[in-house]
Amino acid sequence: MAADDALEKYRQKRDFERTSEPRGGERQGAPEPIFVIQKHAARRLHYDFRLEIGGTLKSWAIPKGPSTNPKEKRLAVPTEDHPLAYADFEGNIPPGQYGAGTVLVWDIGTFRNLTEKKGQPIPLEEAYVHGHLSIWLEGRKLQGAYALTRFKTGKEESWLLVKKDDVGADASQDILVSRPESALTGRTLEEVAAAGPVLGEEFCFH
Ligand code: MN
Repeated sequence: MAADDALEKYRQKRDFERTSEPRGGERQGAPEPIFVIQKHAARRLHYDFRLEIGGTLKSWAIPKGPSTNPKEKRLAVPTEDHPLAYADFEGNIPPGQYGAGTVLVWDIGTFRNLTEKKGQPIPLEEAYVHGHLSIWLEGRKLQGAYALTRFKTGKEESWLLVKKDDVGADASQDILVSRPESALTGRTLEEVAAAGPVLGEEFCFH
């Protein structure tokens, strides 16, 4: 299955005897595609933006995190596909494991594909391959349209995430500062870190 092949890189990087991250698996809940933004205090703090496309979570690491200000362009560096079951992973990746550190579900929800080419809607997979996605987020924190656009290909493939100017836009505050808590559990990064590594599935996405 295509989704299984897509997860090969993800599995190679991890020892599932040691980390409580999911090996794979489907998700339950919404019929619409899901998205998640995980705040990841690894070697360097970053935000992992993941979109359900073609049966896996296409992923980008965003060093500065998302913004609600349409004037802010945020660098998004692609990382390996993650399983759908990763969307509600919140916890600690043990020392020595890939991505060691604390993961907090900063925002989670569903999204709609708004991508068009020559005025015609195009499917998500195609938009992803073309390097331009226009999406409407229905998150617990982020709302409205975002554009995700590839500007560099090859080894240093890079994209930009930019908020579109709509009802969800807000240039007056930094939402990463005003809403630092987990969208799933309300916990702070420090509280998740203090809970230590947990094995098994902790939360269920609804
Ligand atoms: Mn990460």
